[in-house]
Amino acid sequence: MRASGLVAGYGQLQVLWDVDLEVGDGECVILLGSNGAGKTTLLKALLGLVALWRGQIEFQGRRLEGRRTDQRVRQGIAYMSEMGIFPNLSIEENLKLGGYYLPRREVRRRAQALYEMFPDLVQRRSVPAGSLSGGQRKMLSLAKAFMSGPRLLVMDEPSAGLSPRYVKEVIATLKQLHSEGLAMLVAEQNLGFLELAERVCVLDAGRIRFAGDRAALQRDDILRRSYFGLQEATDAPRD
Ligand code: ATP
Repeated sequence: MRASGLVAGYGQLQVLWDVDLEVGDGECVILLGSNGAGKTTLLKALLGLVALWRGQIEFQGRRLEGRRTDQRVRQGIAYMSEMGIFPNLSIEENLKLGGYYLPRREVRRRAQALYEMFPDLVQRRSVPAGSLSGGQRKMLSLAKAFMSGPRLLVMDEPSAGLSPRYVKEVIATLKQLHSEGLAMLVAEQNLGFLELAERVCVLDAGRIRFAGDRAALQRDDILRRSYFGLQEATDAPRD
């Protein structure tokens, strides 16, 4: 996926200023940025959930801007957000919705494969999604996004609201999906996710402030102070 010159906002408020972003086939890119930097707006603009004012998005050789969200999903981009879970519907029903445009047999096949990957969900497949713990709900959001068979999974803060144990579990699951060739774009503040990243982008007040690999990010003094404060303390010279 290659996005260039993205400009977007809400009403009079411009949030994204000429943003360029690339996620190669099978690549994992972590998007860092402080609260209000525009990460969610950027991800939503890629999916067509926020209207673009200007810019181009290319995916698998096709232009996406101007296409509806469901068309982008069919083309292979999935968006994971907790808002997409229906608490009154069962786990199974939520999963089926994730593949709503697929033939029934294919939905069953994919759901089965996902149950193998997320054993926690199997035992509870007929309970309302609203009764799941925060961690299980996150797994369900991930499984639901995965039902559409994406090539690129776009995720907004998958660690939000999770205990450290579940954060580790989410990272391990993503690592497995990534090793099978899934490309990922993950907006995160939790630095644990950096271990997944081939590349890191930093969004600052709606502009890409940095794009490169992790080592280059750690070499950048200002960014290191902003994002690797703890590491800097342990890096301090000892007497
Ligand atoms: P956070 O991690 O806090 O969600 P973010 O980097 O994802 O931050 P955005 O949610 O994209 O940032 O918000 C960027 C700016 O757009 C903020 O100033 C925010 O107040 C504003 N904004 C976000 N959504 C809307 C909306 N629906 N209507 C108006 N302004 C909005």
